Amino acid sequence: MSYQALYRVWRPQRFDDVIGQDVITTTLKNAIVTNQLSHAYLFAGPRGTGKTSAAKILAKAINCPNQKDGEPCNECEICESITNGTLNDVIEIDAASNNGVEEIRDVRDKAKYAPTQATYKVYIIDEVHMLSTGAFNALLKTLEEPPAHVIFILATTEPQKIPATIISRVQRFDFKRITANDILGRMEFILNDKKIDYDDKALKVIAKAAEGGMRDALSILDQVLSFGFDKVTYENALQVTGSVTKSLLSKYLTNVVNHDVKDALSDVRQMLESGKDAARFVEDLIKYCQDILLYQQSPEMVEESELGVIDEEFKQLTSIVDAQRVYRMIVDLNDIQNQMRYTMHPDVYLDVLTVKLSTDNQQIDSPAPAQSQPDFQPASASNVDNQMVQQLNDQVARLQKQVEELTKNGVSANNGGNAASEPARRPAAKKPSGSSNNARVNLTKIYPVLDNATRQDLTNIQNIWDELLSGLDVTKRALMNVSKPVAASHDGVVVSFEYPFLFQKASTDEELQDALGNGLDRILSYVPDFVFIPAEQWPEIRKGYIVAQKNSGKDVREESENSSVENSDQNDDNNNEKQDNEPKIVKQATQLFGEDIIDVKDD
Ligand SMILES: [Zn+2]
Repeated sequence: MSYQALYRVWRPQRFDDVIGQDVITTTLKNAIVTNQLSHAYLFAGPRGTGKTSAAKILAKAINCPNQKDGEPCNECEICESITNGTLNDVIEIDAASNNGVEEIRDVRDKAKYAPTQATYKVYIIDEVHMLSTGAFNALLKTLEEPPAHVIFILATTEPQKIPATIISRVQRFDFKRITANDILGRMEFILNDKKIDYDDKALKVIAKAAEGGMRDALSILDQVLSFGFDKVTYENALQVTGSVTKSLLSKYLTNVVNHDVKDALSDVRQMLESGKDAARFVEDLIKYCQDILLYQQSPEMVEESELGVIDEEFKQLTSIVDAQRVYRMIVDLNDIQNQMRYTMHPDVYLDVLTVKLSTDNQQIDSPAPAQSQPDFQPASASNVDNQMVQQLNDQVARLQKQVEELTKNGVSANNGGNAASEPARRPAAKKPSGSSNNARVNLTKIYPVLDNATRQDLTNIQNIWDELLSGLDVTKRALMNVSKPVAASHDGVVVSFEYPFLFQKASTDEELQDALGNGLDRILSYVPDFVFIPAEQWPEIRKGYIVAQKNSGKDVREESENSSVENSDQNDDNNNEKQDNEPKIVKQATQLFGEDIIDVKDD
């Protein structure tokens, strides 16, 4: 027998098995016992909360000859055929795929006929909000003159989309989200029954991720089981749900609270590198912040309602952060969450968010010295003065504005301010596969630098790079820490960034470029322009440049003796040409960029 999904196998067959909807199931049982049935019901509520299960149980209970206390026997022919969906008198319609007038007229016509086997003919219309206006009108006519022995059960996740005229003719039941504890209990019951080992922490992760839907919980559990070969481990549960581990959340928030932008950015990077989803991270942060507030108010409530959230890091965090600040963080997180829905570049938002949370506007407005705040324990206190905080604040405001514009225009975050004045900007060399960003480089700015690049200029910049970065404030330094100069002329420096999102951020940060310029002026007494690129594109850019130079008949560098290119090499077959000339290109590039920069394996 083929594998059956847990939620099918464990679908409740009695009202008492429906988890977390006691008020509804008790009311329905009483109605059956006292024979006070309505001719139409509306079951509204989030997905996976038991609406269609309850509908089928109701269909059985009112037709079962052995009905007891409002429950079906689940053993007679009628019960079994309803469970299997083979009884002609119980008709299930999915309005998502049958939403037209014709379908509902057909229902209306057939509803007139008496049931053949059962006592009541039952129509279960799932996702009823999907019906067309015409279909709703046809349904309304039927509900206005209900045939005897017919019961309609309408189920929906979106009751607000159902016309008021329909709502007024049905008895409505609102299904609640199922609590994490109820979901947990059900999963434990199922796994114990199946004699499958499980990690308690894993079930807690699944219960939280299911967000009140039993079907979702069991689907996730199914996935975890197949992922872990019939074992339920914590790691697999995290993997399948995409949850960010609690310890990473604590670490990140501790850094944020301590205004440690650099470490917080590094946490974000670590999180993204491990394949976690940016939107999920923000969602997890919001929940975590809510847990902090709740715990500060009343620790018992968190222990009861939140599953496994409390560890030493969490307790430490709740003791140092003040509630007002957590409220502000939640507001910021919600803002970012909304903006992230409309972007292809959630990473950029995450970065902005990190700087913003770590800076915390209210601190600036507060006249009290920062040190007096209990949640203010900056790792680099000496750097944090009001002026810097103001700068950061301005920077955040500007970044946010840019991000908003990006959202509006739907373009990728590229060289920001320069974009308008650079119509000739060309797309970058082909992106390496597997890259998930839209980082674009400005070749029209890079090529002139490469045209005049010398090994000496690059060495000069490399030698003072650390000194240059140490002169930046903590946020800018955090941005630049994973960057390195890869080519330089007297007038320009090409800087590569290990992470595309940092490249994007740096590219739109004019203040950063000014700060770098000022630093170079101070140290070297000259100010080249900066051109930023993502590190992953550098090998392609470098190669593309050399090939372009060669194809245009130009020498890569005047002083490269062996690099003159014969005219006969100029043919259309670039691939062959590249292959044939690879050693020569490498040699030319070596002369241009230096041994240590030309890493042949990159190509
Ligand atoms: Zn029965």
